[in-house]
Amino acid sequence: MYQNGHVATGFGINSVGKIPLGLKRKGLRIVVTGGAGFVGSHLVDRLMARGDSVIVVDNFFTGRKENLVHHFGNPRFELIRHDVVEPLLLEVDQIYHLACPASPVHYKHNPLHKTNVVGTLNMLGLAKRIGARFLLTSTSEVYGDPLQHPQVETYWGNVNPIGVRSCYDEGKRTAETLTMDYHRGAEVEVRIARIFNTYGPRMCIDDGRVVSNFVAQALRKEPLTVYGDGKQTRSFQFVSDLVEGLMRLMEGEHVGPFNLGNPGEFTMLELAQVVQETIDPNAKIEFKPNTEDDPHKRKPDISKAKELLGWEPKIALRKGLPMMVSDFRQRIFGDHKQDAA
Ligand code: NAD
Ligand code: UDP
Ligand code: UDP
Repeated sequence: MYQNGHVATGFGINSVGKIPLGLKRKGLRIVVTGGAGFVGSHLVDRLMARGDSVIVVDNFFTGRKENLVHHFGNPRFELIRHDVVEPLLLEVDQIYHLACPASPVHYKHNPLHKTNVVGTLNMLGLAKRIGARFLLTSTSEVYGDPLQHPQVETYWGNVNPIGVRSCYDEGKRTAETLTMDYHRGAEVEVRIARIFNTYGPRMCIDDGRVVSNFVAQALRKEPLTVYGDGKQTRSFQFVSDLVEGLMRLMEGEHVGPFNLGNPGEFTMLELAQVVQETIDPNAKIEFKPNTEDDPHKRKPDISKAKELLGWEPKIALRKGLPMMVSDFRQRIFGDHKQDAA
């Protein structure tokens, strides 16, 4: 089988898809693009625990091998260093397509549109050829700076097509369009998730997202940097809730799009307060100018996911944050090897 010359670890190339002897039930063969990243690695953990055979495809742009090292040597696990912008030939049952840097700090400086457009096209071409089910991890950013609050899936959004964030927003919008084109035109079985701000262990420490910034700053005894007046809102979802939603969506019968997020809405000042309560009540706050085109409000309406997927988040911010803090504490002060790429 052709794999673009990339050396794979785990089970051999010729045995891709074969379920190793000894498994009680027949697992699925699943590709997770972006599986070395924050969300992807948690998804891989769940799929491996379920008994599936998992192939991670990742170029390590923002992902880290350390997020997956506990699966190395497992015959059901394989890791391929590959950029999804290049074609890929594999045989699998399902494709979770996550590959895409998700932090503004990363995506403003890289040819993200190419990853979203060409990368998604390639994975849809792959899904079409092998008859696999394809799930796209889209984003709440498709709603832009929303004029409707909370956001429902039927809302078409308010996006600046030429702004600094547009490579991400418009890239994901195009990815959604491509996904629906392949569904309608080539009868590919597709699923679309619109993910709202998610946090948890294994987030990049210095990728500039607000929860990781505040937690790292409080632990390092630096001031928490609040952008603008801090009155803008976001709704923060713990990563295990998201992974449960993604798996239900993949296994269910509905195409979507589905909002997957926690409706608990916080201003950035309120978030700073929760971080102070959790880590250091004396942490200072420092105001900084806000970034361009920053959405003022964001909160998911999750009625559709509740009704059709039987899904809703279970972990509130005050419960989820401490789990992320212990991971950050260990990575910042403890085992420094974990920070190596
Ligand atoms: P992440 O940056 O931790 O993970 C993305 C992974 O994709 C990384 O491992 C990276 O190396 C890999 N990648 C990037 N470009 C690639 C390419 N061209 N080829 C192969 N691999 C590539 O981000 P995350 O938070 O885990 O996000 C995962 C997905 O969820 C993304 O599609 C993102 O847009 C979406 N999403 C995340 C959030 C969030 O709050 N975390 C919100 C909305 C949507
Ligand atoms: N593709 C891929 N793996 C496959 C099949 C297709 O990476 O197994 C890529 C292919 O290189 C192309 C894209 O997916 O760039 C779209 O493929 P499709 O067959 O839909 O379109 P076409 O090749 O006819 O333009
Ligand atoms: N933000 C902040 N301080 C930071 C980083 C971000 O106040 O150190 C704000 C940012 O301006 C935005 C919100 O937090 O209003 C969420 O930003 P993030 O980049 O985490 O996610 P996104 O804007 O993509 O929802």
